Amino acid sequence: MMTYSFPELFIGGRPTKGETGETMPVFAPSTGEAFARIACGTAGDIDRAVKAARAAFEGAWGRMAPADRGRLLQRLGRRIEEASDELTLIEAMDTGKPMSQARADIAAVARYFEFYGAAADKVHGEVIPYSPSYFVTVVKEPYGVTGHILPWNYPAQMFGRSLAPSLAAGNTVVLKPAEEACLSILRLTELAAEVGIPDGAINVVPGRGEEAGAALAAHPGINFLSFTGSPEVGTLVQKAAAENHIGCVLELGGKSPQILFSDADFAKAMPTIVKAIVQNGGQTCSAGSRVLIESSVYDRFASDLAEAFSKIRVGSHEMDLDCGALISAGQRARVEGFIARAQAEGVPCLAQGSLAPNLPKDGYYVVPRLYGPVPRTNSLARDEVFGPVLSVIPFDDEADAIRLANGTDFGLIASVWTRDGGRQMRVARAMQCGQVFINNYGAGGGVELPFGGVKKSGHGREKGFAAVHEFCTTKTIVIDHG
Ligand code: NAD
Repeated sequence: MMTYSFPELFIGGRPTKGETGETMPVFAPSTGEAFARIACGTAGDIDRAVKAARAAFEGAWGRMAPADRGRLLQRLGRRIEEASDELTLIEAMDTGKPMSQARADIAAVARYFEFYGAAADKVHGEVIPYSPSYFVTVVKEPYGVTGHILPWNYPAQMFGRSLAPSLAAGNTVVLKPAEEACLSILRLTELAAEVGIPDGAINVVPGRGEEAGAALAAHPGINFLSFTGSPEVGTLVQKAAAENHIGCVLELGGKSPQILFSDADFAKAMPTIVKAIVQNGGQTCSAGSRVLIESSVYDRFASDLAEAFSKIRVGSHEMDLDCGALISAGQRARVEGFIARAQAEGVPCLAQGSLAPNLPKDGYYVVPRLYGPVPRTNSLARDEVFGPVLSVIPFDDEADAIRLANGTDFGLIASVWTRDGGRQMRVARAMQCGQVFINNYGAGGGVELPFGGVKKSGHGREKGFAAVHEFCTTKTIVIDHG
């Protein structure tokens, strides 16, 4: 098996020894074997990274013309495309996801740098017609140094989604990636240096959440925070931001509904519904983990769905089947806990996928499950499983569907399947969430589309031009010209 070693942090444009020199093992989900080691940064390392980022903000990156910054970000996008084979393999081994899904992730990172590189010189201000004797202009300015704390499910994609808009706005960044999977991020950081992004613009300190992550969230030298991860840690990060009187964007969990009315094009919906839960083994914040079906067609739709679901195959990243291993033994145990509780509570299991034969015995595999009808108060109808477990719930009418869809603590994305144009718009407007899809789900996750949540799914927006504004502060300049 291939082994990797990234025993150093990335501070000030180069690999740098951590203050303790401690490293952590990285496990390949497909086999359960330790195949890499990464550095384990400390609060002191975070402090050094913040200072390096500040120097770059006051120096080369901060003084660069926006068009030149944009050109460098686009050059990084092209370099990522060139390195796609290598990055795909690293990402698949590190996360356990099938190779084709990892390849799509790497294409998405390249696209983030292409899109935000092109945005760098378009962060316009405005002129406000206030009074005949004043000239008022509003300018968008970078915050300075932004801190980014990321999860393990899409390490490479998150690097692009979180960092590229901040860099495009003119900030410099300090990133604390997840300890479970961050090898692609470390390689992407090397590529950023290779294409000429100035020293200190991107600093990466792997480490434990409660030490390096907490130190980054609380560091007084950080001017804005971007956190993607669990609601529990998001709450801690927001508290730390409040202590420092800075803003933050939080991208947290979800329990996203797909609502199927009786007139839905079910043949079109079926593969989309299955993909929305097996993609990345269900370890996706926007996984479509609840399917709400109108009662009049429940039996027919649920049995068709069961048939499609039973064809899901689980294998190693190399086998490139529908679904890979989960990220860790801990995550597998968590998902199996949901399955065991559902069984103990008598929730009917409608179908399950299958494991490929002869899988490595220590890999973190789970058999995908479809449950229904799931009682509305059951944990499977309300809590984020973050695994390949899909819940089907019947509803009576439009009002009931809306109540049910909005009836969890989360609000990330939703989809509505119906041919009725009025209903499409009514239900879309009634959804409490950040994105609504009509007769599709996720639409390929386009970088152009603002994304984010409400309620326990977080606040602030990533993706789209909205993300560039998220990483800017607004300054009003008033000139008295008499
Ligand atoms: P997590 O919250 O456990 O960890 C996320 C990051 O926070 C990691 O880098 C971790 O080291 C760090 N961290 C842990 N404790 C910390 C602390 N005390 N202070 C500061 N940082 C700390 O989440 P996870 O298990 O990596 O990811 C799963 C969760 O992330 C799910 O809830 C999922 O829905 C969510 N998620 C959301 C999105 C989105 O865009 N909305 C995307 C991906 C994942």
